[in-house]
Amino acid sequence: MDIFVVRESKKDPQLVVHKSAKDRAAQYPGVFHADNGLLFCSSCNVVLDHLRKSILDKHLDSSSHKKKANQADGKQQTIKTAFECKTRPQVEKVKVSEEWIKACTAANIPLHKSDNPIMRKFLDTRVVNGGAIPKASQLRDYLFDVSQVEKDELKKKIEDKDVA
Ligand SMILES: [Zn+2]
Repeated sequence: MDIFVVRESKKDPQLVVHKSAKDRAAQYPGVFHADNGLLFCSSCNVVLDHLRKSILDKHLDSSSHKKKANQADGKQQTIKTAFECKTRPQVEKVKVSEEWIKACTAANIPLHKSDNPIMRKFLDTRVVNGGAIPKASQLRDYLFDVSQVEKDELKKKIEDKDVA
């Protein structure tokens, strides 16, 4: 998938131009995890820009992250919750993305409006799991699934009513 990663690059991190989210997660074991090409903070359940280490370090240094990380530490993760941590963001990401698409399409808001800086800030800071809503270019991948589900639901409704 990531054609920019060269085998030798692992020896010298300076040479890495494009690091995959997975590679980045491996650098921070137990802190971040990769899912579907995106890097998540395991404590905060938010998507972070895995290409820029400075952003990740800044996030780890933020008070909101420290608060969430402390809460997670207090719970003493079992293997089961650690496993759930990996899948829950995945589920939440799909849910919030699909619901965002539904809301946008219902209100006639083009998906690219999600990339508007002010809109993005609102989603990141004010919407639960809003940070997991990907950029419009990725949202379009979900659009197909959403329309497929809507179509199936429509079909079901028609079947039930036995329309002639
Ligand atoms: Zn965090």
